[in-house]
Formats: sequence, structure tokens, C-alpha cells
Amino acid sequence: MSSPRPPGATRLAAARPAPLPGVSFEFFPPKTEEMETRLWNTIRRLEPLAPSFVSVTYGAAGSTRDRTYETVCRINRETSLPTAAHLSCVGTTREEVDEMVRRYWRQGIRHIVALRGDPPEGTPRYTPHPGGYANSVDLLEGIRRIADFEISVAAFPEVHPEAQSPDADLEYLKRKIDAGAHRAITQYFFDVDVFMRFLDRARAKGIAVPIVPGIMPVFNFAKLSKFSAKCGASVPRWLAEMFEGLDDDPETRRQVAVAQAAEQCQALREQGVNEFHFYTLNGARLTGAICHALGLGPPTEAPLAAERLGPRP
Ligand code: FAD
Repeated sequence: MSSPRPPGATRLAAARPAPLPGVSFEFFPPKTEEMETRLWNTIRRLEPLAPSFVSVTYGAAGSTRDRTYETVCRINRETSLPTAAHLSCVGTTREEVDEMVRRYWRQGIRHIVALRGDPPEGTPRYTPHPGGYANSVDLLEGIRRIADFEISVAAFPEVHPEAQSPDADLEYLKRKIDAGAHRAITQYFFDVDVFMRFLDRARAKGIAVPIVPGIMPVFNFAKLSKFSAKCGASVPRWLAEMFEGLDDDPETRRQVAVAQAAEQCQALREQGVNEFHFYTLNGARLTGAICHALGLGPPTEAPLAAERLGPRP
């Protein structure tokens, strides 16, 4: 006789059959010693989940260039994790970008997430640096001329805000893939149907490489809403309702966030999508719990001293 299941458990229980999902984790380079401690707690906790890779972001307009480089190299040196460096071409000359690419190759880094980047805060439109790469396709071609990197690029299920049309956006993604990208990682989204329609359209266009959904656990609903408006990700009404009234209840917020993201991943798995890229915001608790719910086993019990749920950059 089977034991009774709590409501909502059926879908997650169904998530368990092999193959287990493939996951990757995105971090940002820490600014302070405290943030560095938090990041390393997170890395150590998530490492046993055996992600296919982890990546480190590149601050807007290259603002974290050295910190990104140092963080990528340290993870590569001190852990077993395949490490990818995000790299954008905004506000930088080709020579500077090329030098960074060569340095990564010399350090044993073999995977770059190649991005155009956003214009600096307060600048309405993206303008390429006069001596720089013009956009992500141009950058990608430059990287490939230097060495045989694995390359991931960005994709936008809800269309990039600067795209002329959804079709033009997809056409541009195809150009990135045709220029040699091995995978696309998407902007986060919450509506599974939006992603599935995007995937169908991409496949119909002849894009055959993996398109990995970006999963954003809801760390802080207010901040998420603000950020989403900027990057063109929509926040459904039902999501707002899930977090309503929880501003002073971090524990329940955490549980709701884990349940929501695990359900989202499971709904994708039911449609044959089995790889996920997590925006961890350098915390292990939510991402670790979501992965556990998907059958990946618990993260390790490293001390959580420097980690807490709440507003984070
Ligand atoms: P591109 O692919 O070059 O262009 C963006 C869009 O503009 C295209 O989708 C297309 O619609 C249009 N477009 C551009 N050029 C043309 C053209 N010649 N013809 C027609 N259409 C064109 N930003 C950071 O600064 N650092 C990061 O570490 C970072 N990591 C990210 C990781 C992921 C997974 C994602 C999804 C985004 C990330 N971003 C990051 C944000 C990214 O830099 C922005 O979304 C930026 O606005 C676009 O970058 P891109 O590489 O998609 O640009």
C-alpha cells in the first residue's frame, strides 16, 4: 500500500525517473570579503551536485573584469567544477577582449559565455566601442579565431527588448549558432508555455544546439519585479500572488520559492527539457533545495554562516 502524499508531491515524485537533470550554476564575482566567504560556502555546498559547469558573470560594461577573471581562475584551480567565464564586448577594444580571451585559455579555461552586454546605466542605446567588437556574433567570431573554446550565448524566450521583432530576434540567435556557439542559455522566465513555444520556433528555424532554460529562484519578489521590467522578462500575476503578504516571513518565502521553481523545472521535464541553468545569486539554499527536489541529492551541510535569505544584488 502506498503512503499518502502531501498535496503537490505527485508532480515532483514523477520528476524522479532517470535520467536526472543536468544543471549548471551561475555566480557573480564577489565585491567584499564577506561576499567572497558566502560565494565559497555556496560553491562547496553545490559542488557535490556535479553541475555540468558553473559560470561567473561579467559586470555591466566590464565593471568586474578583474574580479570575474580572478573568480573564474580560482574556481578552476580549487574545485573540480568545469568553469565558464562570461565575457562581454561593451566599452572595450578588441585588443583588450582578445588579451582576456588568451589569458583564460592559458589558465585552462575552455568555456566562454559570449555576450554583447548592456549599455552603461543612463545610456539609452547600445553603441559599440569604436575599436571594439560590434555585437555578440562579432565577439564570438573573434573568440573562435583565438582558440577552440566551448561557447554559450544568450537567448530570449520573451524577445530581447532591442529586437525589431520576435522573428528578427530568433534570426539573430540563429546567426550566433551558425557562427559556432555550442549552446544557448535563456533569460529567465516563469511561464513554461512561453519557453516551450520559443523552443518549438527555434527548432523550426533549424537551431539544433541545446537551449538551456535559465531558472531564477525568487529570492526577493520586489527586486525581481524591478529587474524584470528592465530585461524584458514578464512576471505573471500568479507569481505576485504567491509571494503576497510574505515580506516579513523569510522562511515561508523560501519554501514558496523552492516549490515554485521545482514545479517549473518539473513541468519542463514533462515536456522533455532536462537541463537547467540556475541563477544562484551566490546562494546555495534555494538552488540546492530545488535541485534536491529534482532528485539531485542534498547539497552538503557546509556551514551557512554567511548566507541568509533576503535582498541581494
Ligand atoms: P546580442 O546577441 O548581440 O544582441 C541582443 C539582441 O539585439 C539580439 O537578440 C537581437 O535581437 C538584437 N541585435 C543585436 N545586433 C543585431 C544585429 N546586428 N541585427 C539584428 N539584431 C540585432 N550581461 C552582462 O553584462 N554580463 C553578463 O555576465 C551577462 N550574462 C548573461 C547571461 C545570460 C544567460 C543572459 C540571457 C544574459 C546575460 N547578460 C549579461 C545580459 C546581456 O548582456 C544583455 O541581454 C544584452 O542586452 C544583450 O546581450 P546579447 O549577447 O544577447 O547581445
